[in-house]
Amino acid sequence: MRAILTYHSIDDSGSPISVSPEVFRAHCAFLASGRVRVLPLVDLMREGDTGGDAVAITFDDGFENTGTVAWPMLAAHGLPATVFVVPGHVGKFNDWGGRRVPGIPHLSLLSWDALGQLVMQHATLGAHTMTHANLAGLDASGIDEELDRGHAAMVQHAGVAPTTFAYPYGGTSPVAARAVRARYEFAVTTELRPLRSGEDAALLPRLDMYYVRSPGALEAWGQPSFHARLWTRRLGRQARAWLHPSAGRVA
Ligand SMILES: [Zn+2]
Repeated sequence: MRAILTYHSIDDSGSPISVSPEVFRAHCAFLASGRVRVLPLVDLMREGDTGGDAVAITFDDGFENTGTVAWPMLAAHGLPATVFVVPGHVGKFNDWGGRRVPGIPHLSLLSWDALGQLVMQHATLGAHTMTHANLAGLDASGIDEELDRGHAAMVQHAGVAPTTFAYPYGGTSPVAARAVRARYEFAVTTELRPLRSGEDAALLPRLDMYYVRSPGALEAWGQPSFHARLWTRRLGRQARAWLHPSAGRVA
């Protein structure tokens, strides 16, 4: 099985964007065990489905704890990861659009200096729009502006021209996917499933590790219980989306 793994914040709040440091430490130990190969995102996708079990690790939003808590654990095992950065909020907080969301912790985001330190430690930076905009709600010019301003800021402040992109909130549309495809080699969504052969490079699914945070859940990788867990979570998310169209879109 091949998959792209999603983390947001590594903290003890128990929120829908959080995985605890204790669980993350266990995840790192499993990922470093050799059971599954861990590749940089671009390498995983370029390899295709010929190489057997493999994953890529991604972090959305660039929380400060990605640098202070997660990165030391990843680095201890030599595990690569991509961090999707929101330039308009770098060094600030995750109050996208100036709004805080009930149940979501108000968290510091990494500064440009801290992001630069991560790059020196071989982190890959990816793009996540300029302001964490939901591209599904924007017209073509609005999408272009979010993508181009975000990209220019990454180049200016981090000295990095990203080749990967994550849709904020998983929000996409045919227009958005076309604009992203024209700018980035690979783009990831929040569609909860492993990779299949022949994926659209601009609309890649991921596995949100929030749904795999129970003890032993990730260690069941590839087993029927692991697939059953994903299937159950996917159904739950679909039901919630149907009942509350804006619910669950927090990161
Ligand atoms: Zn996000």
